[in-house]
Amino acid sequence: MEIPLSVKSNNVALDCLNSLISIGRLTFEQGVKLMHDPSLNSVTSLADMVKRARFNDYVFFNENLHVNSTNVCVLACRFCAFRKGPRHPDAYSLNVDQYLERIRPFSSRIDEVHTVGGLHPTWTVSEYCELFSNLKNEFPHIHIKALTAVEIKHLSKRSSLSISDTLSRLSEAGLNSLPGGGAEILVDSVRDRICMGKESSDEYLEIHGAAHSLGISTNCTMLFGTVESVDDRITHLLRLREQQDTSFGFQCFVPYPFLPDKSRLPEAQLASGQEVIRMISVSRLMLDNIPHIKAYRMNIGDKLASYAINCGADDVDGTVGHEEIMHEAGSKTSLTTSSEQMARMIVSSGATPIKRNSSYSVFEIVNLSEPNRTRILPVIVPEVS
Ligand code: SF4
Repeated sequence: MEIPLSVKSNNVALDCLNSLISIGRLTFEQGVKLMHDPSLNSVTSLADMVKRARFNDYVFFNENLHVNSTNVCVLACRFCAFRKGPRHPDAYSLNVDQYLERIRPFSSRIDEVHTVGGLHPTWTVSEYCELFSNLKNEFPHIHIKALTAVEIKHLSKRSSLSISDTLSRLSEAGLNSLPGGGAEILVDSVRDRICMGKESSDEYLEIHGAAHSLGISTNCTMLFGTVESVDDRITHLLRLREQQDTSFGFQCFVPYPFLPDKSRLPEAQLASGQEVIRMISVSRLMLDNIPHIKAYRMNIGDKLASYAINCGADDVDGTVGHEEIMHEAGSKTSLTTSSEQMARMIVSSGATPIKRNSSYSVFEIVNLSEPNRTRILPVIVPEVS
């Protein structure tokens, strides 16, 4: 593969390229240098090269739906715009009929339901088993990706079960995989400031490791732009990489920035668009053992997501249909994007759109019958007398 000029001319990127070629892995120090490298273009070019070496110009998406089970939560993470107290007028907890009612209008065109929610004060594992088994009964073709690590911990406590037994019960009821939410930053001093009471960073990794050992694949995430340092972000990436070396069940890494408003975390170190792109690129370069890096359009928007496709991301999530967590926090990303529009967005970024299933095991190239819109403008040559 041709090495882009911007990489050739830059020492940090060149040093990283050499390490990737010789040992396939970057160090903590190299990760920090990439975060500070004044040449963003070198970092994104290197990440794009690594992405293309693995996936060529393919970019993946799926047809999915987000359905939140409840917004009632016993915790109050400082960045969270979604949770409500049990007596709040907008608090809700879906029963089986309400849950299925949200899925039915989408059921013929989706193959994944993504369900996460608050830590409900009275629900146990049984409530979720009921939701999932009924979903599978009615729509056996739908993959259930549900419950973050902290929800698994909460349900295990509420149900007096071990983490492993909780996961097994849910899996028997139809749970297929776990999303990665709740990782925030895997440094406990940061977690104490932004999400006191949530699972510790060790617990997050242990719960994902337990899922992997049961054959349940998971995603992992990073919420950045709150109060963490650059070193904290690289530590986060390395902790995920170490876990993946041990349990090898992470499918996809999803980095996304904190979306601010006037009330939550006023001291947040907000991420700019360039920083979001850099974070996606550095994630691709540091996480050599996690196959997919997602540009999460629900959070960063379609414009930044389409740019990220050329900076190391190979996935833009899905059609989504309904989403509350990012939209409560201020996201304006469209919820009516069709499969064809997703494909057009990917094509417009110079990539080939591939529709995938949840486990990245079934793929379909999306061919668009696009009329040729290339226009060659006439050159007007002034008459010289
Ligand atoms: S992030 Fe999750 S655990 Fe924290 S308050 Fe929001 S819903 Fe509850």
